[in-house]
Amino acid sequence: MEIETQCLYEGYSPRNGEPQTLPICQSTTFKYESTEQVSKLFDLEEAGFFYTRIANPTVDAVERKIAALEGGVGAMCTSSGQAATMFAILTLASAGDHFVSSSAIYGGSLNLFAVTLKKLGIEVTFVDPEASESEIQAAFRPNTKALFGETIANPSIDVLDIEKFARIAHANGVPLIIDNTFATPVLCRPLSFGADIVIHSTTKYIDGHALQMGGVIVDGGSFDWTNGTFPDFTTPDESYHGIVYAEAFGKAAYIAKARVQLMRDMGACQTPFGAFLINQGLETLPLRIERHSQNADAVAHWLVKHDKVASVSYPTLEDSPYRERAAKYLPKGCSGVLSFSLKGGREAGARFIDSLKMASLLVHVADIRTCVLHPASSTHRQLTDEQLASAGITPGMVRLSVGIENIKDIIADLEQALAQV
Ligand code: PLP
Repeated sequence: MEIETQCLYEGYSPRNGEPQTLPICQSTTFKYESTEQVSKLFDLEEAGFFYTRIANPTVDAVERKIAALEGGVGAMCTSSGQAATMFAILTLASAGDHFVSSSAIYGGSLNLFAVTLKKLGIEVTFVDPEASESEIQAAFRPNTKALFGETIANPSIDVLDIEKFARIAHANGVPLIIDNTFATPVLCRPLSFGADIVIHSTTKYIDGHALQMGGVIVDGGSFDWTNGTFPDFTTPDESYHGIVYAEAFGKAAYIAKARVQLMRDMGACQTPFGAFLINQGLETLPLRIERHSQNADAVAHWLVKHDKVASVSYPTLEDSPYRERAAKYLPKGCSGVLSFSLKGGREAGARFIDSLKMASLLVHVADIRTCVLHPASSTHRQLTDEQLASAGITPGMVRLSVGIENIKDIIADLEQALAQV
Protein backbone atom coordinates (compact mmCIF):
# COMPACT_ATOMS: atom_id res chain seq x y z
CA MET A 1 0.00 0.00 0.00
CA GLU A 2 1.10 3.58 -0.61
CA ILE A 3 1.43 5.79 2.48
CA GLU A 4 -1.91 7.59 1.95
CA THR A 5 -3.66 4.20 2.00
CA GLN A 6 -1.56 2.89 4.91
CA CYS A 7 -2.68 5.91 6.96
CA LEU A 8 -6.25 4.65 6.63
CA TYR A 9 -5.92 0.87 6.80
CA GLU A 10 -2.80 -0.16 8.74
CA GLY A 11 -3.13 -1.21 12.37
CA TYR A 12 -6.83 -2.03 12.49
CA SER A 13 -8.78 -4.29 10.12
CA PRO A 14 -12.38 -4.86 11.19
CA ARG A 15 -13.70 -8.36 10.62
CA ASN A 16 -17.28 -9.27 9.77
CA GLY A 17 -19.73 -7.20 11.83
CA GLU A 18 -17.04 -5.25 13.69
CA PRO A 19 -16.85 -1.42 13.94
CA GLN A 20 -15.57 0.32 10.83
CA THR A 21 -13.61 2.85 12.93
CA LEU A 22 -10.95 2.07 15.54
CA PRO A 23 -12.79 1.23 18.81
CA ILE A 24 -11.65 2.95 22.00
CA CYS A 25 -10.84 0.13 24.40
CA GLN A 26 -11.32 2.25 27.51
CA SER A 27 -10.15 -0.25 30.09
CA THR A 28 -7.11 -0.21 32.32
CA THR A 29 -7.04 -3.97 32.58
CA PHE A 30 -8.05 -7.28 30.97
CA LYS A 31 -9.77 -10.35 32.48
CA TYR A 32 -8.40 -13.91 32.34
CA GLU A 33 -9.77 -17.26 33.49
CA SER A 34 -6.64 -19.09 34.58
CA THR A 35 -3.62 -18.16 36.65
CA GLU A 36 -1.57 -20.29 34.27
CA GLN A 37 -2.38 -18.03 31.34
CA VAL A 38 -1.67 -14.87 33.34
CA SER A 39 1.69 -16.36 34.36
CA LYS A 40 2.53 -16.97 30.70
CA LEU A 41 1.65 -13.38 29.84
CA PHE A 42 3.88 -12.10 32.64
CA ASP A 43 6.72 -14.36 31.52
CA LEU A 44 6.26 -13.00 27.96
CA GLU A 45 5.71 -16.57 26.77
CA GLU A 46 2.34 -15.60 25.30
CA ALA A 47 1.24 -12.33 23.72
CA GLY A 48 -1.86 -10.64 25.11
CA PHE A 49 -3.12 -7.54 26.84
CA PHE A 50 -3.13 -7.49 30.62
CA TYR A 51 -2.58 -3.91 31.77
CA THR A 52 -2.90 -0.69 29.73
CA ARG A 53 0.37 0.80 30.96
CA ILE A 54 2.17 -1.96 29.01
CA ALA A 55 -0.24 -2.41 26.10
CA ASN A 56 -3.83 -1.71 25.09
CA PRO A 57 -5.69 -2.73 21.89
CA THR A 58 -6.43 0.87 20.77
CA VAL A 59 -2.90 2.05 21.48
CA ASP A 60 -1.54 -1.12 19.87
CA ALA A 61 -3.42 -0.41 16.62
CA VAL A 62 -1.89 3.06 16.43
CA GLU A 63 1.56 1.63 17.19
CA ARG A 64 1.18 -0.89 14.36
CA LYS A 65 0.09 1.87 11.99
CA ILE A 66 3.00 4.18 12.81
CA ALA A 67 5.49 1.28 12.61
CA ALA A 68 4.16 0.49 9.13
CA LEU A 69 4.29 4.13 8.02
CA GLU A 70 7.94 4.42 9.07
CA GLY A 71 8.85 0.94 7.77
CA GLY A 72 9.83 -0.36 11.23
CA VAL A 73 9.32 -3.68 13.01
CA GLY A 74 7.48 -2.22 15.99
CA ALA A 75 6.54 0.97 17.79
CA MET A 76 5.62 2.17 21.26
CA CYS A 77 3.43 5.17 21.99
CA THR A 78 4.28 7.42 24.93
CA SER A 79 2.45 10.16 26.81
CA SER A 80 4.40 12.97 25.08
CA GLY A 81 7.24 13.56 22.65
CA GLN A 82 9.52 14.30 25.59
CA ALA A 83 8.79 10.85 27.03
CA ALA A 84 9.60 9.25 23.65
CA THR A 85 12.96 11.06 23.50
CA MET A 86 13.76 10.07 27.08
CA PHE A 87 12.83 6.38 26.55
CA ALA A 88 14.70 6.30 23.23
CA ILE A 89 17.94 7.12 25.06
CA LEU A 90 17.31 5.23 28.31
CA THR A 91 16.56 1.99 26.42
CA LEU A 92 20.18 1.88 25.21
CA ALA A 93 22.16 3.96 27.72
CA SER A 94 22.54 4.04 31.48
CA ALA A 95 24.73 5.81 34.06
CA GLY A 96 28.31 5.96 32.83
CA ASP A 97 27.32 6.00 29.15
CA HIS A 98 27.57 8.79 26.60
CA PHE A 99 25.89 9.73 23.33
CA VAL A 100 26.41 12.30 20.58
CA SER A 101 23.68 14.65 19.39
CA SER A 102 23.27 17.25 16.70
CA SER A 103 23.13 20.70 18.29
CA ALA A 104 20.27 21.68 15.93
CA ILE A 105 17.44 20.06 17.89
CA TYR A 106 14.32 21.06 19.80
CA GLY A 107 15.08 23.07 22.96
CA GLY A 108 13.24 20.58 25.17
CA SER A 109 15.48 17.77 23.88
CA LEU A 110 18.57 19.94 24.44
CA ASN A 111 17.56 20.48 28.04
CA LEU A 112 16.68 16.82 28.62
CA PHE A 113 20.06 15.77 27.23
CA ALA A 114 22.28 18.45 28.76
CA VAL A 115 20.68 18.73 32.19
CA THR A 116 18.34 15.92 33.20
CA LEU A 117 20.11 12.94 31.60
CA LYS A 118 23.39 14.33 32.91
CA LYS A 119 21.95 14.15 36.43
CA LEU A 120 21.19 10.47 35.71
CA GLY A 121 24.84 9.93 34.77
CA ILE A 122 24.42 9.90 30.97
CA GLU A 123 26.59 12.43 29.18
CA VAL A 124 26.00 14.07 25.81
CA THR A 125 28.32 15.81 23.37
CA PHE A 126 26.62 18.22 20.98
CA VAL A 127 28.05 18.52 17.47
CA ASP A 128 27.37 20.96 14.65
CA PRO A 129 25.45 18.78 12.17
CA GLU A 130 27.24 20.57 9.31
CA ALA A 131 30.69 19.65 10.68
CA SER A 132 32.80 17.20 8.70
CA GLU A 133 32.56 13.46 9.36
CA SER A 134 35.97 13.49 11.05
CA GLU A 135 34.97 16.40 13.31
CA ILE A 136 31.80 14.57 14.36
CA GLN A 137 33.79 11.34 14.74
CA ALA A 138 36.04 13.14 17.24
CA ALA A 139 33.07 13.45 19.64
CA PHE A 140 32.75 9.65 19.97
CA ARG A 141 34.15 7.82 23.02
CA PRO A 142 34.47 4.15 23.94
CA ASN A 143 31.25 4.46 26.02
CA THR A 144 29.20 6.22 23.28
CA LYS A 145 25.87 4.46 22.68
CA ALA A 146 24.00 6.49 20.04
CA LEU A 147 23.94 9.38 17.61
CA PHE A 148 20.87 11.65 17.60
CA GLY A 149 19.50 14.24 15.16
CA GLU A 150 16.30 15.84 13.80
CA THR A 151 15.19 15.49 10.17
CA ILE A 152 13.99 19.12 10.10
CA ALA A 153 15.31 20.95 13.15
CA ASN A 154 12.95 22.90 15.42
CA PRO A 155 13.18 25.92 15.30
CA SER A 156 16.08 26.52 12.89
CA ILE A 157 14.43 24.48 10.03
CA ASP A 158 17.86 23.02 9.14
CA VAL A 159 17.61 19.79 7.13
CA LEU A 160 19.84 16.97 8.43
CA ASP A 161 22.09 14.90 6.17
CA ILE A 162 20.69 11.62 7.54
CA GLU A 163 22.95 9.39 5.42
CA LYS A 164 26.06 11.15 6.73
CA PHE A 165 24.87 10.72 10.31
CA ALA A 166 24.03 7.03 9.67
CA ARG A 167 27.52 6.40 8.25
CA ILE A 168 29.17 7.94 11.31
CA ALA A 169 26.92 6.09 13.78
CA HIS A 170 27.46 2.73 12.10
CA ALA A 171 31.22 3.22 11.80
CA ASN A 172 31.14 3.48 15.60
CA GLY A 173 28.84 0.48 16.12
CA VAL A 174 25.96 2.56 17.52
CA PRO A 175 22.43 3.26 16.24
CA LEU A 176 21.23 6.51 14.69
CA ILE A 177 18.11 7.91 16.39
CA ILE A 178 16.16 10.44 14.33
CA ASP A 179 13.44 12.77 15.62
CA ASN A 180 11.15 12.90 12.57
CA THR A 181 8.47 15.11 14.14
CA PHE A 182 8.37 17.95 11.60
CA ALA A 183 8.79 15.79 8.50
CA THR A 184 6.42 12.95 9.51
CA PRO A 185 6.74 9.63 7.65
CA VAL A 186 4.77 11.17 4.78
CA LEU A 187 7.57 13.59 3.86
CA CYS A 188 10.59 11.52 4.98
CA ARG A 189 11.19 7.96 6.17
CA PRO A 190 14.57 8.14 7.95
CA LEU A 191 14.87 4.33 8.25
CA SER A 192 15.20 4.17 4.45
CA PHE A 193 18.23 6.51 4.69
CA GLY A 194 20.01 4.39 7.30
CA ALA A 195 18.49 5.51 10.62
CA ASP A 196 17.85 2.71 13.12
CA ILE A 197 15.30 4.27 15.48
CA VAL A 198 12.75 7.02 14.74
CA ILE A 199 10.88 9.08 17.29
CA HIS A 200 8.09 11.63 17.04
CA SER A 201 6.23 14.10 19.10
CA THR A 202 2.80 12.99 17.82
CA THR A 203 1.53 16.19 19.47
CA LYS A 204 2.65 17.98 16.30
CA TYR A 205 1.58 17.07 12.73
CA ILE A 206 0.53 13.48 13.47
CA ASP A 207 -2.27 14.72 15.75
CA GLY A 208 -2.25 18.01 13.88
CA HIS A 209 -5.35 19.51 15.49
CA ALA A 210 -3.79 20.74 18.77
CA LEU A 211 -5.84 18.14 20.66
CA GLN A 212 -3.64 15.43 22.11
CA MET A 213 -0.16 15.16 23.62
CA GLY A 214 1.81 12.11 22.58
CA GLY A 215 5.02 10.58 21.39
CA VAL A 216 6.13 7.41 19.66
CA ILE A 217 9.33 5.39 19.21
CA VAL A 218 9.73 3.21 16.11
CA ASP A 219 12.28 0.39 15.97
CA GLY A 220 13.77 -0.09 12.50
CA GLY A 221 14.75 -3.66 13.42
CA SER A 222 18.04 -3.35 11.54
CA PHE A 223 20.55 -2.64 14.30
CA ASP A 224 22.76 -5.46 15.61
CA TRP A 225 22.46 -5.23 19.40
CA THR A 226 24.81 -8.21 19.78
CA ASN A 227 27.87 -6.30 18.49
CA GLY A 228 29.40 -6.15 21.97
CA THR A 229 28.50 -2.52 22.79
CA PHE A 230 25.11 -3.24 24.39
CA PRO A 231 25.41 -5.82 27.20
CA ASP A 232 21.92 -4.89 28.45
CA PHE A 233 20.56 -6.58 25.30
CA THR A 234 22.70 -9.70 25.48
CA THR A 235 22.86 -10.49 29.21
CA PRO A 236 19.96 -11.54 31.45
CA ASP A 237 17.63 -8.83 32.79
CA GLU A 238 17.12 -9.86 36.40
CA SER A 239 14.08 -7.60 36.66
CA TYR A 240 12.42 -9.80 34.01
CA HIS A 241 13.22 -13.36 35.14
CA GLY A 242 16.60 -13.24 33.41
CA ILE A 243 15.26 -12.53 29.92
CA VAL A 244 17.91 -11.77 27.26
CA TYR A 245 16.26 -9.22 24.95
CA ALA A 246 18.33 -9.89 21.82
CA GLU A 247 17.58 -13.63 22.08
CA ALA A 248 13.93 -13.42 23.07
CA PHE A 249 12.85 -10.68 20.64
CA GLY A 250 15.38 -10.80 17.77
CA LYS A 251 14.89 -7.85 15.42
CA ALA A 252 12.37 -6.23 17.78
CA ALA A 253 14.69 -6.39 20.83
CA TYR A 254 14.94 -2.61 21.22
CA ILE A 255 11.24 -1.81 21.18
CA ALA A 256 10.43 -4.85 23.34
CA LYS A 257 12.98 -3.73 25.94
CA ALA A 258 11.58 -0.18 25.82
CA ARG A 259 8.13 -1.52 26.60
CA VAL A 260 8.57 -4.38 29.04
CA GLN A 261 11.39 -2.76 31.00
CA LEU A 262 11.11 1.03 30.77
CA MET A 263 7.39 1.56 30.19
CA ARG A 264 6.71 -0.99 32.92
CA ASP A 265 8.95 0.94 35.34
CA MET A 266 8.43 4.57 34.30
CA GLY A 267 4.87 4.45 33.07
CA ALA A 268 4.60 7.41 30.67
CA CYS A 269 2.05 5.60 28.49
CA GLN A 270 -0.44 6.88 25.92
CA THR A 271 -4.14 6.49 26.83
CA PRO A 272 -6.72 4.64 24.70
CA PHE A 273 -8.64 7.87 24.01
CA GLY A 274 -5.38 9.69 23.24
CA ALA A 275 -4.46 6.95 20.77
CA PHE A 276 -7.91 7.23 19.16
CA LEU A 277 -7.36 10.98 18.61
CA ILE A 278 -3.87 10.36 17.22
CA ASN A 279 -5.36 7.83 14.83
CA GLN A 280 -7.88 10.44 13.67
CA GLY A 281 -4.95 12.69 12.87
CA LEU A 282 -3.03 9.94 11.10
CA GLU A 283 -5.94 9.21 8.76
CA THR A 284 -5.71 12.65 7.14
CA LEU A 285 -1.99 13.30 7.70
CA PRO A 286 -0.93 12.96 4.03
CA LEU A 287 -3.56 15.47 2.88
CA ARG A 288 -2.76 17.93 5.65
CA ILE A 289 1.02 17.80 5.41
CA GLU A 290 0.84 18.31 1.65
CA ARG A 291 -1.28 21.45 2.12
CA HIS A 292 0.89 22.69 5.03
CA SER A 293 3.96 22.30 2.82
CA GLN A 294 2.39 23.99 -0.23
CA ASN A 295 1.16 26.89 1.87
CA ALA A 296 4.50 27.34 3.67
CA ASP A 297 6.35 27.28 0.36
CA ALA A 298 4.01 29.99 -0.99
CA VAL A 299 4.31 32.10 2.19
CA ALA A 300 8.13 31.80 2.20
CA HIS A 301 8.33 32.93 -1.44
CA TRP A 302 5.94 35.82 -0.71
CA LEU A 303 7.81 36.93 2.44
CA VAL A 304 11.27 37.07 0.79
CA LYS A 305 9.97 39.73 -1.56
CA HIS A 306 8.51 41.92 1.23
CA ASP A 307 10.50 45.08 1.94
CA LYS A 308 10.01 44.88 5.74
CA VAL A 309 11.42 41.34 5.89
CA ALA A 310 15.17 40.94 6.43
CA SER A 311 15.46 37.17 5.91
CA VAL A 312 13.38 34.01 5.57
CA SER A 313 14.39 30.42 6.42
CA TYR A 314 12.60 27.68 4.50
CA PRO A 315 14.34 24.84 2.65
CA THR A 316 12.61 25.33 -0.72
CA LEU A 317 13.78 28.95 -1.09
CA GLU A 318 16.26 29.45 -3.93
CA ASP A 319 18.97 30.76 -1.58
CA SER A 320 18.43 28.20 1.20
CA PRO A 321 21.58 26.22 2.05
CA TYR A 322 19.28 23.21 2.50
CA ARG A 323 17.54 23.36 -0.88
CA GLU A 324 19.45 20.48 -2.49
CA ARG A 325 19.34 18.32 0.62
CA ALA A 326 15.59 18.93 0.98
CA ALA A 327 15.09 17.78 -2.62
CA LYS A 328 16.76 14.48 -1.67
CA TYR A 329 15.26 13.84 1.77
CA LEU A 330 11.98 15.77 1.53
CA PRO A 331 10.90 15.58 -2.12
CA LYS A 332 7.19 15.91 -1.27
CA GLY A 333 7.56 19.08 0.82
CA CYS A 334 9.19 20.54 3.91
CA SER A 335 6.24 20.91 6.38
CA GLY A 336 4.51 24.10 7.41
CA VAL A 337 7.12 25.60 9.72
CA LEU A 338 9.32 28.53 8.69
CA SER A 339 10.99 31.44 10.36
CA PHE A 340 11.61 34.99 9.22
CA SER A 341 13.16 38.15 10.61
CA LEU A 342 11.74 41.63 10.45
CA LYS A 343 14.04 44.55 9.73
CA GLY A 344 12.56 46.54 12.62
CA GLY A 345 13.92 44.19 15.33
CA ARG A 346 12.26 43.17 18.60
CA GLU A 347 9.62 45.91 18.58
CA ALA A 348 8.61 45.21 14.97
CA GLY A 349 8.33 41.49 15.72
CA ALA A 350 6.00 42.13 18.66
CA ARG A 351 3.90 44.72 16.76
CA PHE A 352 3.56 42.34 13.78
CA ILE A 353 2.30 39.50 15.98
CA ASP A 354 -0.11 41.76 17.88
CA SER A 355 -1.57 42.96 14.57
CA LEU A 356 -2.42 39.51 13.20
CA LYS A 357 -6.17 38.93 12.99
CA MET A 358 -6.44 35.28 11.94
CA ALA A 359 -3.16 33.61 12.92
CA SER A 360 -3.01 32.64 16.60
CA LEU A 361 -0.21 33.52 18.99
CA LEU A 362 0.68 30.32 20.81
CA VAL A 363 3.50 28.11 22.00
CA HIS A 364 2.91 25.33 19.50
CA VAL A 365 3.59 24.46 15.89
CA ALA A 366 2.04 22.06 13.40
CA ASP A 367 -1.60 22.93 14.03
CA ILE A 368 -4.10 22.99 11.15
CA ARG A 369 -4.58 26.69 12.03
CA THR A 370 -1.75 29.12 11.25
CA CYS A 371 0.09 30.08 14.40
CA VAL A 372 2.99 32.33 15.31
CA LEU A 373 5.48 32.94 18.07
CA HIS A 374 7.89 35.82 18.61
CA PRO A 375 10.76 34.21 20.57
CA ALA A 376 12.30 37.58 21.63
CA SER A 377 9.11 38.61 23.46
CA SER A 378 8.08 35.15 24.75
CA THR A 379 10.21 31.99 25.04
CA HIS A 380 13.51 33.95 24.94
CA ARG A 381 12.20 37.15 26.56
CA GLN A 382 14.86 37.29 29.28
CA LEU A 383 17.74 37.38 26.77
CA THR A 384 19.50 40.52 25.56
CA ASP A 385 19.90 41.09 21.80
CA GLU A 386 23.49 39.77 22.09
CA GLN A 387 22.37 36.64 23.92
CA LEU A 388 19.63 36.10 21.36
CA ALA A 389 22.22 36.28 18.58
CA SER A 390 24.31 33.57 20.19
CA ALA A 391 21.18 31.37 20.38
CA GLY A 392 20.71 31.89 16.63
CA ILE A 393 17.64 34.08 17.11
CA THR A 394 17.36 37.65 15.86
CA PRO A 395 15.25 40.14 17.87
CA GLY A 396 12.84 40.48 14.95
CA MET A 397 12.54 36.74 14.28
CA VAL A 398 9.05 35.28 13.96
CA ARG A 399 8.41 31.53 13.93
CA LEU A 400 5.45 30.85 11.71
CA SER A 401 3.61 27.53 11.54
CA VAL A 402 1.58 27.77 8.38
CA GLY A 403 -1.83 26.09 8.59
CA ILE A 404 -4.15 24.60 5.98
CA GLU A 405 -6.38 27.66 5.49
CA ASN A 406 -6.76 29.08 1.97
CA ILE A 407 -3.40 30.61 1.07
CA LYS A 408 -5.11 33.89 0.09
CA ASP A 409 -6.41 34.33 3.64
CA ILE A 410 -3.04 33.51 5.20
CA ILE A 411 -1.19 36.02 3.03
CA ALA A 412 -3.90 38.67 3.52
CA ASP A 413 -3.47 38.37 7.30
CA LEU A 414 0.34 38.56 7.09
CA GLU A 415 0.10 41.53 4.71
CA GLN A 416 -2.21 43.60 6.90
CA ALA A 417 -0.06 42.87 9.98
CA LEU A 418 3.16 43.80 8.16
CA ALA A 419 1.49 47.08 7.16
CA GLN A 420 1.22 47.93 10.92
CA VAL A 421 4.95 47.47 11.52
N1 PLP B 1 10.65 16.87 19.30
C1 PLP B 1 10.35 17.97 18.58
C2 PLP B 1 11.04 18.18 17.25
C3 PLP B 1 9.44 18.90 19.05
O1 PLP B 1 9.16 19.99 18.31
C4 PLP B 1 8.83 18.69 20.31
C5 PLP B 1 7.87 19.67 20.87
O2 PLP B 1 7.70 20.75 20.35
C6 PLP B 1 9.19 17.55 21.04
C7 PLP B 1 10.08 16.64 20.50
C8 PLP B 1 8.59 17.28 22.39
O3 PLP B 1 7.28 16.83 22.21
P1 PLP B 1 6.08 17.07 23.27
O4 PLP B 1 5.82 18.53 23.32
O5 PLP B 1 4.98 16.24 22.67
O6 PLP B 1 6.54 16.51 24.57
